[in-house]
Amino acid sequence: MSKSQTVLVNADPRQRAWIEIQPAAIESNARILKDLIADSCLLMAVVKADGYGHGAQTVARAALLGGADTLGVATLQEGLELRQSGITCPILLLGNLINSEELAACLHSRLMPTISSSREALLCQKVAEDRGVKFRVHLKVDTGMTRLGCDLTKALALIQTIDRCNDVDLQGVYSHLALADDEFSSVTTKQYQRFEELLGSLKQKHHDLCFHLANSAGTLRDQAFHYDMVRVGLALYGYSPLKKFQGDLGLQPALSLKAKVTLVREVAKGVGVSYGHRFITKRSSRLAVVGIGYADGVSRALSGRLLVLINGRPLSQVGNITMDQLVLDVTDRLDVGPGSVVTLLGSDGKNCITPQQWSDWSGSIPWEVLCGFKNRLPRIVI
Ligand SMILES: *Cc1c(COP(=O)(O)O)cnc(C)c1O
Repeated sequence: MSKSQTVLVNADPRQRAWIEIQPAAIESNARILKDLIADSCLLMAVVKADGYGHGAQTVARAALLGGADTLGVATLQEGLELRQSGITCPILLLGNLINSEELAACLHSRLMPTISSSREALLCQKVAEDRGVKFRVHLKVDTGMTRLGCDLTKALALIQTIDRCNDVDLQGVYSHLALADDEFSSVTTKQYQRFEELLGSLKQKHHDLCFHLANSAGTLRDQAFHYDMVRVGLALYGYSPLKKFQGDLGLQPALSLKAKVTLVREVAKGVGVSYGHRFITKRSSRLAVVGIGYADGVSRALSGRLLVLINGRPLSQVGNITMDQLVLDVTDRLDVGPGSVVTLLGSDGKNCITPQQWSDWSGSIPWEVLCGFKNRLPRIVI
């Protein structure tokens, strides 16, 4: 066959290990979330960390199609990349910027920064004044997360400072929940009450501001947390941070992680498998080597606990997961051979493996699992 065909075969993204993304699932999840909130409430699709590992542009476009109104990113670079790809909707930087060069780039690309201090407000004023453009910003107030945000007791004074900055246009005031996924914690109620108090003292003079508080867990938990906008990440990708909601909302996971069996071997009883010989065969066994490892984002902490699916049925991973490969015990599975497709996350037949299961096996959280996939894995949009 011709040379160009040889090249194509080598470049097959499904050659070894890959991620499949279904934008239709993201779009449908955005619709479900939009239906859950009031007509007057905006939906921000949080697409930071490359869209939780799904590909930020793919997710952003699908979410906007499904009715999302704005986008949230963590870094300036993430915002710039979305702008360069032609996305024009409002974009809020959830992280903060510390110097005027960054703020100038932010303003130039019509990205809205998050402000937590008068230092940041005054920098924004200077940058905007120099360029003769109004700088649209959101103020973050700390109600109990103790990360970004200004002290609650200083919020009113900071808003006055911003009001005096003629070229800074305050668009929104927000806060972030620290324990929204813990249904038994009283912290969320406290944070809500603090936010309410702040709003009470602001609403008269600043009724046109966009107030927002809820992440996915806050959005699913209580309408009272919705205010003028919700900032949804995890639920947009098809996972509920609250166990009780998974399933009944109809959210669909948009990501599958797959790899291929590259070799099947027969080994005797009592043989040590992989680095450290953490697993010793208890019988004469068939083992399958799979072309994916921790350099792709399959955490080594999953070693010996991971279940995968082949032809819709579960199989156990054995021994230590290595950088590029892992091993399955396929002794009872004559249907498995070189080229068999292994589903590590997502559904195959009636079974499905979720980031929550990975988290239970490895002591992680679904957010970390999703953004742990490395560039070596090609992402195929379906
Ligand atoms: C990441 C982030 C979110 C989204 O959180 P999820 O739990 O994934 O919905 C919302 N708000 C802020 C400020 C964030 O940093």
